[in-house]
Amino acid sequence: MARYTDASCKLCRREGQKLFLKGERCYSNKCSIGRRSYAPGQHGASRKKMSEYGVQLREKQKAKRFYGLLESQFRKYFDIANRKKGVTGENLLQMLESRLDNVVYRMGFGTTRAEARQLVTHAHFTVNGKKVNIPSYIVKVGDVISVSERGRKSVRFKEILDVTGAKIVPKWIEVDQENLNGKVIALPEREDIDLDIQEQLIVEFYSK
Ligand code: SF4
Repeated sequence: MARYTDASCKLCRREGQKLFLKGERCYSNKCSIGRRSYAPGQHGASRKKMSEYGVQLREKQKAKRFYGLLESQFRKYFDIANRKKGVTGENLLQMLESRLDNVVYRMGFGTTRAEARQLVTHAHFTVNGKKVNIPSYIVKVGDVISVSERGRKSVRFKEILDVTGAKIVPKWIEVDQENLNGKVIALPEREDIDLDIQEQLIVEFYSK
């Protein structure tokens, strides 16, 4: 599968805010946003005021980057969200939050969404006792996500939990760190999603 391979910090600089793509480093003084808070590239420091289209585009790009998705994947989620009943922007965020890689990250079993995705791909998790290695798998209420037997042998989870142990878990999931599992107890509502995203701008962007 195609994926973004350039420096993650450039994405934060492009969006002008922290996207928390590099785990611990994002909370340290090594974070690039603190040192170079302008967009990358030759004209990055001299960019002018954005048009309405530019603001909508940036909001869409930011959301895509938070979840580590490419345009075609993101657009598919939007199309599904648009066909569903309810508020399109909220449907979109709920689906993105319900991806297995995001849920693993929210449970604290990955320091970043990118790491959580890699661990899922490497078969380190089961859903309701069955191996699932598809990061885009959409979880349902009642699903139990556990670190697989293979994952339990890895020292990496101990290291990850040392970093994420104090993380606040959103109220729609429960986590048992000792037994390396967690349960989805509700679908995420808009107020449960703490990302700085104005989803209405994304809807406006794709509705042109
Ligand atoms: Fe973004 Fe800073 Fe983390 Fe780099 S270190 S990914 S700039 S938040």
